[in-house]
Amino acid sequence: MGYDIQPTASHFIDGAYVEDTAGTPIPVICPVSEQEIARVYAATPAVIEQALAAAKRAQVAWAAMTGTERGRVLRRAADLIRERNYDLSVLETNDTGKPLQETLVADATSAADALEYFGGIAGSLTGEHVQLGEDFVYTRREALGVCVGIGAWNYPTQIAAWKGAPALACGNAMVFKPSETTPLCALKVAEILHEAGAPAGIYNVVQGMGEVGHALITDPRVAKVSLTGSVPTGRKVYAAAAEGIRHVTMELGGKSPMVIFDDATLEDAVGGAILGNFYSSGQVCSNGTRVFVQKGIKEAFLKRLSERLADVKMGDPLDETVNFGPLVNARQLEIVQGFIAKGIDEGARLVCGGQREDMSGYFLQPTVFADVTDDMTIAREEIFGPVLSVLDFEDEAEVLARANDTEFGLAAGVFTNDIGRAHRMAAGFEAGTCYINTYNLAPVEAPFGGSKLSGVGRENSKNAVDHYSEMKSVYVAMTPVEAPF
Ligand code: NDP
Repeated sequence: MGYDIQPTASHFIDGAYVEDTAGTPIPVICPVSEQEIARVYAATPAVIEQALAAAKRAQVAWAAMTGTERGRVLRRAADLIRERNYDLSVLETNDTGKPLQETLVADATSAADALEYFGGIAGSLTGEHVQLGEDFVYTRREALGVCVGIGAWNYPTQIAAWKGAPALACGNAMVFKPSETTPLCALKVAEILHEAGAPAGIYNVVQGMGEVGHALITDPRVAKVSLTGSVPTGRKVYAAAAEGIRHVTMELGGKSPMVIFDDATLEDAVGGAILGNFYSSGQVCSNGTRVFVQKGIKEAFLKRLSERLADVKMGDPLDETVNFGPLVNARQLEIVQGFIAKGIDEGARLVCGGQREDMSGYFLQPTVFADVTDDMTIAREEIFGPVLSVLDFEDEAEVLARANDTEFGLAAGVFTNDIGRAHRMAAGFEAGTCYINTYNLAPVEAPFGGSKLSGVGRENSKNAVDHYSEMKSVYVAMTPVEAPF
């Protein structure tokens, strides 16, 4: 970790890297060495103007191309990303601290999937024809215009592509603002898209904190904003977008339930709990952090979970045998440690973990609490770190009511071998994405997004197309106009 990963410049605008050191410096801190490894500068008003003007200018010609032509660019970009997966994964690991073992299979590859998928469907986006006697209506699926994407820090490459791919497939231009914590990876997505043939100005990246995001989404040239972030930020962005009645997609936080019945396959349930709590050191929005375990299987579950957690290997995330990285920054570490202290104070039983590791970097042991009750802070608030809470339950109706007793609704999972119960639970969960006997998979072919405070709109799948385009109805009269006078 920590070798020179300084990007060519802070921003990517109108097909080229752009620098303006008058902006607020944003140091990129390596989560392992805790040292600065790169530096970018927040966009100044002049840079923001340049990006929006470029996007606005480029979008019209891009939308006028055929879907097949646009799709070809996206698919070429997907191929380039796959060819460069190793280097892009190393960059993602430096940016976030996530282990290379993970980034090699989950980040650039997921971005490539999105570009390939939306590149594939770009040529088949259509409106429809409605016959009305001799008259008829046809609908045109039209691009929205300039879209703004604002990303969180946990999946910087993936988020840049999950927003960019459907936006571009539909004929929009994008201005993307990464999280200030992880500013590096989106620049590569922009660079590769242009290398693949995207016209200058179609995908731009500008750096900055919240105020840069705010300036982007309140600009009259912007038609849509898609945010991945926390609920408090979502409220602000949604409100700012409302001013101009802009389209929104909100991918926000969660406190998702995972329900394990006595009849579950123990090994799968434990595996699901690991995937849904400790992948990316727990910094995943859809994590199933409230693990409801039926009483009959509870002790076996905790025993097996503790055994498997003994296989956690922390260390230099670039070492491919390391499977557990640090938290993204010092602030996130402090937040998560605060939640652990609260869990102990409020009477939860610490089964394992809870401590920092005796090494440099923001490493925190995977932490398991048992005997957690619904009212405890660790069962109510999003922690965004490696903290799993086990709650006991007796029966299906009770656990479903408790699982849904949250303001969030991003994801939910059930582990059971009773097929009827599995589908009843999935139907009953108040959540955008549900899992039966697995957890946290997010293939591009399936819609992904939240209910309740966890968001509006869906990313991925054909569903995303509706969030990056709008229908225009064209009524065609084939008969004389009948007017009353
Ligand atoms: P934040 O909500 O802090 O920030 C998200 C992005 O919004 C950042 O780029 C941030 O900029 C920007 N931002 C902050 N304030 C404003 C504003 N007023 N106007 C415009 N933009 C603004 O989230 P984190 O980066 O801390 O990410 C963690 C959160 O993201 C968690 O709650 C997690 O659940 C959620 N998340 C949701 C996912 C989903 O798909 N549902 C996926 C991944 C994460 P900056 O931080 O640079 O100031």
